[in-house]
Amino acid sequence: MQKTLRIGHLYPKLLNIYGDGGNIITLKCRAEWRNLNVTIDEINTGDDSIKEHDIYFIGGGQDLQQIEVSKELQKHKEFLIQERDRGAVFLGICGGYQLLGHYYLPHNGEKLMGISLLDAYTVAGNKRFIGNVTAETEFLTPKTLVGFENHSGLTYLQGDTKPIARVVTGNGNNGKDKTEGARYKNVFGTYLHGSVLPKNPHFTDYLIELAIGEKLAELDDSIELNAHNALINKAY
Ligand code: GLN
Repeated sequence: MQKTLRIGHLYPKLLNIYGDGGNIITLKCRAEWRNLNVTIDEINTGDDSIKEHDIYFIGGGQDLQQIEVSKELQKHKEFLIQERDRGAVFLGICGGYQLLGHYYLPHNGEKLMGISLLDAYTVAGNKRFIGNVTAETEFLTPKTLVGFENHSGLTYLQGDTKPIARVVTGNGNNGKDKTEGARYKNVFGTYLHGSVLPKNPHFTDYLIELAIGEKLAELDDSIELNAHNALINKAY
């Protein structure tokens, strides 16, 4: 019987900058290329309940859009914590990543509350980090993750929430401790836009395999990895 991968796309109308919607397309294609059936539900402002999904995705956005999403997410906080603890996969990019932590404190205005899926917090820095990032993981082959960052938020990890990679080129979480991204259970956050998944096919497959609980058949990723390798250690 054909397996189904259920994707929940959180607030695509608000958090979808720098091509982050391309991550949904990549998850869909790479799952369908392995004969998985894929369903995609959008969760938008005003939706009062969320069904169970195997993968949740939340993209990046400017402070203004984060204010609305921060408020909306509080309605679903308990449910999404249960989903995390059930083993659902989450991928948050930049602004979305920040809201998977405890809070994001922008330059001006109130603290934007997150949903604490990650034991992390973010405070706005004085400098905007813009450019390509190369970071090294310990769980992927190839080890590298590449992408584009554009954020002023500085994210700090605590407790059992650990970075997904060590920064080689670029700034990552805060430009100080050389960490990039975060993971707790199957919740992943990263500052890598671009979108991150098309040029990191190995990371995409890792997330899908976590979500369905089985290994995927190999694909010829030569084109994707050519794009990946072209970005390694490239600052701009
Ligand atoms: N507004 C947040 C920041 O500047 C997130 C930006 C983004 O998602 N690219 O840090």
